[in-house]
Amino acid sequence: MKFTCPICGEKTFSPLLKARAGGMSSSGAHCPSCGGRCVNGKLNLIVNSVTSGIACIMVFVTYFLHTNKTQLFLFAFLPIVIALVFNFVFNMFFGKLTEAIKHE
Ligand SMILES: [Zn+2]
Repeated sequence: MKFTCPICGEKTFSPLLKARAGGMSSSGAHCPSCGGRCVNGKLNLIVNSVTSGIACIMVFVTYFLHTNKTQLFLFAFLPIVIALVFNFVFNMFFGKLTEAIKHE
């Protein structure tokens, strides 16, 4: 399973490379064929911001409401890990690649 490079149109991006390309604000990953820099597009940006947004709110709320360390672990630490893993997997398999706008 490979993803199409938006610059040269070749199916060069493996899921892992696609995930490593990051979002629209990152410097992206190089296409193995044409060397062009690609990042994940708008859909990934929205989904990733929503996921990390929820995790951040949970951490914030838990910080003030927790009564013991277990709660802190479950509701503040775990959501961050889940959000990171979810975003990585989402970027691996979903959304379209787009040409990186930001310069290195
Ligand atoms: Zn390419």
